[in-house]
Amino acid sequence: MPLRRRSKIVATLGPASRDRAMVLALARAGADVFRLNFSHGSHADHAETVAAIRSAGLEIDRPLAILADLQGPKFRLGRFAEGRVELAVGDEIRLDLDMTPGTRERVGMPHPEIFQAIAPGDLILVDDGKVRLEAVTCSPQGGTFRCTQAGTLSDRKGVNVPSADLDLSPLTDKDRADLSFALEQKVDYVALSFVQRAADVAELRRLVNGRARVLAKIEKPQAVARLAEILDLCDAVMVARGDLGVEYAPEEVPIAQKQIVRAARERGIPVIVATQMLDSMMVNATPTRAEASDVANAVYEGADALMLSGETAAGAHPVASVEMMARIILRTEADPNLPFLMQAEMGTDDSRETDPIALAACQAAAAARAACLVPFTATGTSAMRLARERPVQPILALTPDPAIARRLALVWGVRARIAGDPADFEDMAARATLAATVSGAARPGDQIVIVAGVPFGTPGATNLVRLARAAPAPDGAPGPTPR
Ligand code: PGA
Ligand code: MN
Repeated sequence: MPLRRRSKIVATLGPASRDRAMVLALARAGADVFRLNFSHGSHADHAETVAAIRSAGLEIDRPLAILADLQGPKFRLGRFAEGRVELAVGDEIRLDLDMTPGTRERVGMPHPEIFQAIAPGDLILVDDGKVRLEAVTCSPQGGTFRCTQAGTLSDRKGVNVPSADLDLSPLTDKDRADLSFALEQKVDYVALSFVQRAADVAELRRLVNGRARVLAKIEKPQAVARLAEILDLCDAVMVARGDLGVEYAPEEVPIAQKQIVRAARERGIPVIVATQMLDSMMVNATPTRAEASDVANAVYEGADALMLSGETAAGAHPVASVEMMARIILRTEADPNLPFLMQAEMGTDDSRETDPIALAACQAAAAARAACLVPFTATGTSAMRLARERPVQPILALTPDPAIARRLALVWGVRARIAGDPADFEDMAARATLAATVSGAARPGDQIVIVAGVPFGTPGATNLVRLARAAPAPDGAPGPTPR
């Protein structure tokens, strides 16, 4: 039953999962959106993956979205003569721009913007925060750092700089090349990593120029501090807990997650909760209790989508991970308390923006005990406005544009089907009821709520809510669904 699950699943593809049979199996298991991680893989790999996703979408007759995730300005140490050095607490090491192999005394870090931005006392976190280095002295060419958390530094390890505001282009040369490739491949969403400010998103928007939707990954404290201005410019957002959890203390991450999800929901922008949701399924066939709870809690928060990273890209159980995530989501969505808890996550602020037509449609659907909401949508906006209300009824979006149908795969509670613009009122009701019954969203005799704009075919003119009844069952066929 295609409309049953409301929170969507994003599956990252990688070496464990990019062949056609696997992509199809992941889609069948419930993946709605596939993420291509441009931190790994060649363009040839990604082109094959795109073809596999498109063919899976045709095969299962369900719109699947592709999210191209650009690496962004990811910093790394240089190499060491011996491959690695061990640091104890209190040890000092110099980082500089010299890329000759490093020693116990010094190592290269080819990022002048970091040396420009940091001051004594600022922290540099190496290898997902496993080793912490505090700046003692620094200049534009380099600095001396004291180790405050012991560990191993080794070749090309990742570096995070949580405290400094870095003056750099939000897209590296690699990102620009990856972006033009992704746009040629007609991906549906483009994600930007390590967003620091609204101008970063504006730059991506300018380059994308309407050819895909733009998603900001929130993975730096600076971005959390500037959340409102960033959300004003993006079409979707990700709570990127991997890097967020390096740059923040662990106890800050759940609060940032709730803050980001709430802010995105208020604006009606799809929000993805990402990273380590079922991490132990990289190796085990079942998740930990804490992971099951994490997935369920993201559903209670009203997240549009939940993401799998290593679990599907490189783990031992990619399909089982998607199946498990789908099971936990469905079970949580069957909790009669879910609507109240999702509402409570939004707080009690009555002044939040709502769309009067969307609100009226959702209230009408509740009062009429309707089977589903059926928006006619050229841009996807009216479906997203309905979704923002988190209605009890599923949303069956009808759009003439396959690209819009695919983009809606990321949105809470929405399933899209291709349908032309209605010719007149009668045709509108006929198309909506037919789509609802054919897709299984309504049974003959069920009430449905249609949302559309008159004159038909004018984007942005959503101004109509209409109740209709799916054609009654012929004698002997099952009657209306009791609800
Ligand atoms: P990544 O982003 O997997 O590209 O690092 C997600 C995250 O940081 O959580
Ligand atoms: Mn990240």
